[in-house]
Amino acid sequence: MSISLRPHHLLCLLTYLGKGYTVDFVRNYDRIVERLNAGEPLRLVSGPDDICQPMLKEETCHCNNSSVVERDRLAAAEISDVLGCDLETAGSLSLNRKRVRDLREAFQAGAIRSACAGCEWHLLCSAISRDGFKDCRLAAP
Ligand code: SF4
Repeated sequence: MSISLRPHHLLCLLTYLGKGYTVDFVRNYDRIVERLNAGEPLRLVSGPDDICQPMLKEETCHCNNSSVVERDRLAAAEISDVLGCDLETAGSLSLNRKRVRDLREAFQAGAIRSACAGCEWHLLCSAISRDGFKDCRLAAP
């Protein structure tokens, strides 16, 4: 099995500590993080992914907005530089401890945050990053 993931959610996973839009969203997110922490690989997709699923039925769903597609494009480019692989063509990706550490360091340095511009969670994610990602749930093996 693999988890479908749109590129900018690789950023959001770094700062995830159990907060989100709805109860269903958080429950689903928690299950996905558990699977990643157990070593399950990612399948990179464009458009809505497994994290988006509970939001697709909500009136406030923004998962198909052009601004979110642009967020994916920006994230893919910057994350590719950090991981040394092209996310646009990679198809799949496995997270591990080193990759998560490298991404968190780049996040803290501001090197992969272009996609975060205008995001409603920006201040929270910045504070989490400054706090060393304390209590964040992603801990790939
Ligand atoms: S600021 Fe928004 S896009 Fe950036 S990591 Fe946080 S939730 Fe994701």
